[in-house]
Amino acid sequence: MSFAAQPTASLFINGQHVEGQGDALPVIYPYTGETIATLYEASTDQVAEACRVAAAAQADWAALAPVERGRVLLRAAAIIRERNDELSRLETLDTGKPLQETLVADWESGAQALEFFGGLAATVTGQMIPLGQDWAYTRREPLGVCAGIGAWNYPSQIACWKAAPALVMGNAMVFKPSEVTPLGALKLAEILIEAGLPAGVFNVVQGRGQVGAALTGDSNVAKISLTGSVPTGRRVYAAAAEGIRHVTLELGGKSPLIVFDDANLEDAVSAAINANFYSSGQICSNGTRVFLQEGIRQPFLDRLAERVRNIRMGDPLDPDTNHGPIITPRQAEIIRGFIESGQAAGAQLVCGGAGEGAFIPPTVFTDATDDMDIARDEIFGPVMTTLSFFEEDEVIRRANDTGFGLAAGVFTQDLTRAHRVIGKLQAGTCWINTYNLTPVEMPFGGVKMSGLGRENSAAAIEHYSQLKSVYVGMGGVEAPY
Ligand code: NDP
Repeated sequence: MSFAAQPTASLFINGQHVEGQGDALPVIYPYTGETIATLYEASTDQVAEACRVAAAAQADWAALAPVERGRVLLRAAAIIRERNDELSRLETLDTGKPLQETLVADWESGAQALEFFGGLAATVTGQMIPLGQDWAYTRREPLGVCAGIGAWNYPSQIACWKAAPALVMGNAMVFKPSEVTPLGALKLAEILIEAGLPAGVFNVVQGRGQVGAALTGDSNVAKISLTGSVPTGRRVYAAAAEGIRHVTLELGGKSPLIVFDDANLEDAVSAAINANFYSSGQICSNGTRVFLQEGIRQPFLDRLAERVRNIRMGDPLDPDTNHGPIITPRQAEIIRGFIESGQAAGAQLVCGGAGEGAFIPPTVFTDATDDMDIARDEIFGPVMTTLSFFEEDEVIRRANDTGFGLAAGVFTQDLTRAHRVIGKLQAGTCWINTYNLTPVEMPFGGVKMSGLGRENSAAAIEHYSQLKSVYVGMGGVEAPY
């Protein structure tokens, strides 16, 4: 391969590339199965060292004026934009996602987060509270060292989404990418240093779950922000409880996309495609339970099947490809297991199926029922389950009948119905007449088992800072004796 994916070293600690002392971590290009780089996991001592270094660097970083911290992030965003082509290519090799996507969605979204929080830095203020002669004020202070742990589907975007609000509020961060996509976070670390971030403020450690566990248990860590599955979320939450650490959990979902009879058919089909097949379906907020009102059901399925034929599956580096491979053979096997289980349970395939090797084509099920695994479990692949419904109350009840609560979407031309239904859906991130748009200006996150806290928007600031209240006595002090 002509493009060098091998980084200088596996870890980034205190502004330096450092080789990991643990087991080898091969980085595999999902399209060819080729090993494109070999990294090494951090040892437990190296994780502790990264956290110590971060704690030592944090105080000076927090002492800078917010506008100075913001400037570093703005510079980093500019560098990302200049190098978007090269960074996107690396992201494609790391994840297998088509270049057509990574060029516009991954680092671009990361750059927007750095810009948004870089610009927001200087606007964060406290409150002045009059108390008669006395008064009080509040200060929004950093938490200290934040641990960031990422999933493999949007590795660089996740690193930026976590780093930007954390750093701008004066925290330091130790970030652990997913073991299968370790390359982007190292680039972010280099770019932040080039943008002027002091050494030690953003560090990267690599490794499998046990490295994540060492990080979440480190006594220097004040906050953990995880993007991952519900089972990992549970473990991270438990580890955080031990040290009474703050947490943000961005976990999985099985989100409903509800299409009423009066919906614009073409838009609803487009949204369902985006909500299920982008990134080969490996997106947490996907609307994988598509509820179709009986009148629109058949026209929707016919048009969907027709449009899915235009898919271009293949080499992710080919600019015309719009459907890439699944991240790992293991994940492909899990997805195929769900497709088999759907068929065995009596659901009918409209299109797609098991596919071959690393590729699973866009797959649509009809005649599914709410109790089937394909309608209940997060598949994290290109599998859409359509379910039919008649009444508004019925679909709200069925849409909410899940432990997850990450996202939801409604398609209808009836303005009042759209807002009424959205108001009743148990989900943290919702869309009306569109799906899966996550601009940095809008809070993103889940309810129920899908998580805690919010990323993006000014709301994220609250999750990377704490309030200090200061009472100012202006007169004498009285005591009872
Ligand atoms: P995992 O939960 O398997 O892993 C997430 C991260 O946690 C990885 O870096 C993993 O390391 C690490 N980890 C594993 N065990 C522990 C532990 N005990 N302590 C600390 N860290 C640990 O998720 P996937 O990477 O498979 O990603 C897919 C999941 O992520 C899906 O459920 C998806 O919905 C969710 N997701 C949620 C998003 C959201 O914003 N709500 C966005 C994207 C994905 P390693 O990989 O090395 O095992």
